[in-house]
Amino acid sequence: MKMLLRALLRRCPNCGSRGIFAGYVALRERCPQCGLRLHRGESDYFIGAYLLNLVAVELLFAAVLGVIFVATYPDTPWALLQWGGLVLMLAGAVLCYPFSKAIWLAADLIFRPISPEELAWHRRGGTMDERDELPHL
Ligand SMILES: [Zn+2]
Repeated sequence: MKMLLRALLRRCPNCGSRGIFAGYVALRERCPQCGLRLHRGESDYFIGAYLLNLVAVELLFAAVLGVIFVATYPDTPWALLQWGGLVLMLAGAVLCYPFSKAIWLAADLIFRPISPEELAWHRRGGTMDERDELPHL
């Protein structure tokens, strides 16, 4: 739970440090405090954050759609739902994406806790080649 709360505050889920984002969306390569590489050394790590963001924005849209539909039935403003939904989906995808990245990292750390060996691997800048493989693999 602590890791998820840290992620919602855009902090490093591992140590709670600020400054893991270089901009609104862009993650730094590593946490400035603990040295964890924020993609955990994997090139396709963004796919999980992308999927999480997609699901979160779809659920947000469904919730807003349901609330407006129930609140205004039988005079449902279909044009507002259509165009407002489009704006909500586009804005939500951009606004939620950085949180998705941090939450995805937190969830990954919950299910695949980082070992001291892996953290040392991150700190020394280990690579994915055969000579310096990630310790948990
Ligand atoms: Zn950290």
